[in-house]
Amino acid sequence: MADLGLRLRGQTLQATGWRFKFDRARTRLGCCSYSPGRRITSKVISISKPFTEAYGWSLMEDVMRHEIAHALDVDERMTTDHSETWRRWAVRCGADPARLYEDESVRLPARFVAVCPVCHDRAEFHRRPRRPAACAACCRRHSGGRYDKRFRLVLFESEAAPGKQLGLFAP
Ligand SMILES: [Zn+2]
Ligand SMILES: [Zn+2]
Repeated sequence: MADLGLRLRGQTLQATGWRFKFDRARTRLGCCSYSPGRRITSKVISISKPFTEAYGWSLMEDVMRHEIAHALDVDERMTTDHSETWRRWAVRCGADPARLYEDESVRLPARFVAVCPVCHDRAEFHRRPRRPAACAACCRRHSGGRYDKRFRLVLFESEAAPGKQLGLFAP
């Protein structure tokens, strides 16, 4: 952040108020956040710690350069997106402007799996769901679309979730 800022515009990112932190995000790799307004405040670049642990610095370095390009873009025009101005900053920062990390190519395994006891359909969650849920397909099929506790999903930690073939829920 200091080096690229100095080299590309003669001022570190820290000098214009940017700070860095790790976050716990499991559905996105990095983030450049700021409160917009006449004077932009709370400028933070954050990088996902779980993704860094899973993929290592070789991938996250490009993410970091991507976010630094956003920060430089914000300092230049008070906003940012993935348009031409950002792409120019990305190239100068050494980030790959074609990689937006919006596809499914880089992801973390879900930590929780919920299984329908009747149809064995599975849903994945990155965080423990707050409220119990029932299988939507079964409720639609057998209960006129109303919540029915017979189809209440059973929650497992991912590693402990049974495969369908185990037949643990055979009716
Ligand atoms: Zn971006
Ligand atoms: Zn079901």
